[in-house]
Order: sequence, then structure tokens, then C-alpha cells
Amino acid sequence: MPAGEFEVIERYFTRRGANREDVLAGVGDDGALVTAAAGTALVLATDTVVEGAHFPAGFDARFVGHRALAVNLSDLAAMGAEPAWALLAITLPALDQHWLSGFAAGLDTLARRYGVALVGGDTTRGPLTVTITAAGTVPPRCALMRAGARAGDDLWVSGTPGDAAAGLAILEGRLPAQGRARDALLARFQLPQPRVALGLALRGIATACIDVSDGLAGDLAKLCAASGVGADVDSRELPLSAGLCSVAPPDARLAYALGGGDDYELLFTAGPGERARIAALDAGIVLRRIGSIAEADGVRIDGKPPGRDAGHGFDHFAGGPPGPG
Ligand code: ADP
Ligand code: MG
Repeated sequence: MPAGEFEVIERYFTRRGANREDVLAGVGDDGALVTAAAGTALVLATDTVVEGAHFPAGFDARFVGHRALAVNLSDLAAMGAEPAWALLAITLPALDQHWLSGFAAGLDTLARRYGVALVGGDTTRGPLTVTITAAGTVPPRCALMRAGARAGDDLWVSGTPGDAAAGLAILEGRLPAQGRARDALLARFQLPQPRVALGLALRGIATACIDVSDGLAGDLAKLCAASGVGADVDSRELPLSAGLCSVAPPDARLAYALGGGDDYELLFTAGPGERARIAALDAGIVLRRIGSIAEADGVRIDGKPPGRDAGHGFDHFAGGPPGPG
């Protein structure tokens, strides 16, 4: 690194995020020293975002800082964990002060909102790449896993899937949109909201959970494979946002909702006896029952496997939507 690496760490990456009493040593020593409450398990997640792959070149630095942390907090949420600490490994093409201050602000704002302390990291030179490792805590028996779904469970999703992929399509000029719909969909790609409160509320209720990062149908297939079950989705129950409905015709809406990535909503299963409790959850987000878990392997949308021949316009996503993978 050119001279300035240490000033950059001091200026942009020190005392960022929440001030937590369980951090005995943060940025500045060889490693971070933290204490976790007795009886809690640590949940560790790491995700990388690469310019050009996970966000377009020239994407606002604030959005990059937000996204790099949000995708990790989403993984913690999907485990039912309470976020606590994060490490930031950043590779930068240059020390651009303006870019760094935007990046740090985006990350700091989200970290404070969820009580996360930035306790360390690494700073190197190269093509813009950001890796965050986030850690949280959960009583071991309360952790939400992909593997717990059973035949007969209901299948639920939070929020309105498909919006983020539509937002990216708008950003890249592939989908025309104006006014409020345009703003709302762009915001869903630019500032994904990790469903941390929902993940915590689902402890003891959900039998399995996964966050939707690569597209609902694909992530549902992962949950089903981990649980050794299949799933039936009723496409009429998919909660589509007003914005998505106003910019995309019916087939394309479904393709965005089922195949589009980057939503960071939670997809979860629960016994039918939990419907009233789930309906009463105040997790700040709409929850919708979109189908059920079956013994027969595989994912079915209206009885048919999702795919190019499913009649849902999946061709739009052949080759895979750009997702954090
Ligand atoms: P070392 O050579 O021991 O790894 P570094 O010079 O890489 O130390 O880092 C010095 C301190 O700054 C360490 O505490 C490290 O965790 C922290 N640090 C470095 N880069 C970042 C960053 N991007 N974000 C947060 N902390 C960082
Ligand atoms: Mg280092």
C-alpha cells in the first residue's frame, strides 16, 4: 500500500459501528478480543462483494458499504442470530478520500442500527473487493437451520421478492420505469434491509430458514435439499410489490419474484399450528404464506418444476441472475 494506509484505517475504520462493552480490544491490535455471554453459540458468516459482479462499477460508495454489511447481517438473520461484531477486509484500487468517507458512512449507519461493532480488518490495494465477516450470538437450540423443514409445514416469505432484481434491471437500463415505482425498486437494490428482527422473532417458531440472495426458487431448492423434502409454491400467493407490478408484465413479474436475486428476504417454514403467532409477529415486514412443504423431492411452482419450460419467463434469467452467490 502507498503511504496513508494507517491514516485511512484510523480515519475511516476505527470506532465504527456500535460501541459494545463486550469488545475488550478492537481495531489497533493484532486481533480483536471479544467476550460472548455464557451459553450462547457464535454464528459466523462471511460474504464478499466485488465491483462489476455484485454491484455495478461507479455504484455509490455508501451503497457499497451498506451492501457489504447487509449481505452478512442477512446470513445472521437467517440463522436467528443477534449481530454483534464484524471484520472488514477491503481491497481498494486507490485511497480516494471521498469514496472512503461514503463507504464508511454507509457501513457505519447500518452497523449502528443493528448494534454491530467493527472490530478489525485488513486493507490492501487491488481491484475493488469488500469482504466482511460478521459474528452474532444465539442460544444453540434456538438457531434457525436450513435442515429442519418437514412435510406438512407451511412455507412463508417476508417482504416482496423480485424488487431488487427489477431495481438492478432499471439501473442497467434493461427495464424502463419512472417516478415512484422506479425510486422504490432502485432503493430495494441499493439499500437491501437485512431481516434481523424477523430472524430473532422466528426463534422457536420456524422449523427451517434461509435468506433469499440468489432467487426464491433456487434458495428454496437449497432449503429443501438440506431438509430432505420438497415444496409446492402457489404463484398467486407471491407478494408482488406495487412497484414491480407497475413496471413488469405478469410473466416477467413472476420471473423476477422467483428468479431474481439480491432481495435478502427470509424464506422459512413453520408448522400450520404457528399461523396465528406468525400473523401476530411485529417484525416490521409483511409475511406471506406462499406454499407448503411436501415429501416429494424438488420445488414445484403451481405443480410444475421451475425452469425454462415452466411458462414463467425464466429465460430472462438463463445463465443466472447476478447474485452474491
Ligand atoms: P496486522 O499487520 O497486524 O494485520 P494491520 O496493519 O493489517 O495489522 O492492521 C492494523 C489494525 O487495523 C488491526 O487491528 C486491524 O484489525 C485493523 N484494520 C486494518 N484494516 C482494517 C479495516 N479495513 N477495517 C477495520 N479494521 C482494520
Ligand atoms: Mg493485517
